[in-house]
Amino acid sequence: MSKTPFVTLEKVKEIAKEYPTPFHIYDEKGIRANVQALKDAFSWNKGFKEYFAVKATPNPFLINILQEYGCGCDCSSKTELMMAKAIGAVGDDIMFSSNDTPVDEFRFCNDLGGIINLDDITHIAAVEKACGKLPKKMSCRYNPGGMFKISNDIMDNPGDAKYGMTTEQIYDAFRIMKEKGVEEFGIHAFLASNTVTNEYYPMLAKVLFELAVDLKDKTGANIKFINLSGGVGIPYLPDQEPNDIAVIGDAVHKVYDEVLVPAGMGDVSIYTEMGRFMMGPYGGLVTTAINEKHTHKEYIGVDACAVNLMRPAIYGAYHHITVLGKENDPCNKKYDVTGSLCENCDKFAIDRMLPNIDMGDILFIHDTGAHGFSMGYNYNGKLKSAEILLKEDGSYKLIRRAETPTDYFATFDCFDIYDKLINE
Ligand SMILES: *Cc1c(COP(=O)(O)O)cnc(C)c1O
Repeated sequence: MSKTPFVTLEKVKEIAKEYPTPFHIYDEKGIRANVQALKDAFSWNKGFKEYFAVKATPNPFLINILQEYGCGCDCSSKTELMMAKAIGAVGDDIMFSSNDTPVDEFRFCNDLGGIINLDDITHIAAVEKACGKLPKKMSCRYNPGGMFKISNDIMDNPGDAKYGMTTEQIYDAFRIMKEKGVEEFGIHAFLASNTVTNEYYPMLAKVLFELAVDLKDKTGANIKFINLSGGVGIPYLPDQEPNDIAVIGDAVHKVYDEVLVPAGMGDVSIYTEMGRFMMGPYGGLVTTAINEKHTHKEYIGVDACAVNLMRPAIYGAYHHITVLGKENDPCNKKYDVTGSLCENCDKFAIDRMLPNIDMGDILFIHDTGAHGFSMGYNYNGKLKSAEILLKEDGSYKLIRRAETPTDYFATFDCFDIYDKLINE
C-alpha cells in the first residue's frame, strides 16, 4: 500500500505564494465522504449521533462541516465549550466529557444545556453545588480496570488510566443520581486509543451493553444512550489496513440485537465521540526543506517543527512523509527530518528512506488532521502555523491565520515592556 497526499505540488505552491509554509491543510472532500460513511454505518440506530472530539481539531470551520451531518461537539474544557456555543451547538449537541473538572465548568456546561458526562462519583456533589441541582439528563464514565484485550492482543490498559468510575462506583452513582432527580442516563467508556482493527467498538459495545442491561435491572435507571467515545484509529503506517466503518457499524448492530433488544432496550441511542477517525487522515502538514546537514547522519531541516506537530516528539509516532513532486522517485536516501527546536526529539522522521531532497522541496507530512495543530505549543518562541481548507471545488480558504509575534507577546500587554516587544 502507498499513501497519496490529497493535494498536488502545483496546488501547494499556489497556496504558499499567499500563505507561506509551514501550514496545515485539510481536505473537505475527504472529511465529507468519511462523515457520510459513518452516518450510513450507524443508520440502523435511530438516535445515533457523533459528538466530534473538539480537542482533536478545534477549528470552527471544520466542525461546521461535521455539523451539516448532524454531529455535535464533545468538549473537555471551558474554552472548548465556548467554541461549541459560538458555532451554534446547544443542549443535546454538547457532550462534556471532561476530567479533573473545575466546578465552574460544570456550571458553564449546564447553562448551555449540554450533557455532563461525569468522570468520577465525587463529581455528583460538585455538579449539585455548581448547578443548584442535578440536570435531568446525565452520563457516567466507566472504567472496568484490568487490561482490555481482543483475543490475546492487549489493546490498552484501562486499569492504569485515570479516567472513569469503577464498576461498584457506577452502580452507586446511578442510584444516587436517580434519588437526586436524574431521569435520563447515559454510559460512556474509552478503553483503548488509536485502535486499527474493526473489533474495538463491537468489543467495547458488548461490555457497555451488558453493563447497561444490568444497571437498568439493579437501579431502575432509564438508560437513553450509550457513548462508545473515541479510540477508533487510522493507519498512520503505509502498510496498515484501515478500519472499515461499515463493518464496525454492522458488528455493533449485531451486539445491540443480541444484548439490548432482548432486554427491552431497543430504543437506546448509540453515540460516538471520535476525533482521530473523523479528521486525522484529512489533514496534512506542508513544510519546506530549508537546511541540509551532513554530520554523523544526514539531516534535512524543514520550516515546521514539533510546535506544529508534536506526536513524533512525544510518542515517537510515525507520520508518513511525501516529497511533493517526487512521488515516483526511488526512496534511496536515508534522512532524519528535523525541526528547529533546541530539543533532539524534534524530528519528524528518523532514518527514513526518502527520495533525494533538494533545498526548497516541499514535504507533505500525512495524517495531521487530528491531534496535530491542536497539540501545538510555543516552545523556543515558535509561532503556530496557519490552517487552510482545500475545498471540494479545488479552491482554498484560510481557516486560521498564522500566529504573529504580537500574539506571542500578548500576555505582556499589561506591562510597560509590551510596546518594546511588539515594535520589531
Ligand atoms: C480524546 C478523546 C476523544 C477522541 O479520541 P480519538 O482517539 O481522537 O477518537 C473522545 N472522548 C474523550 C473523552 C477523549 O478524551
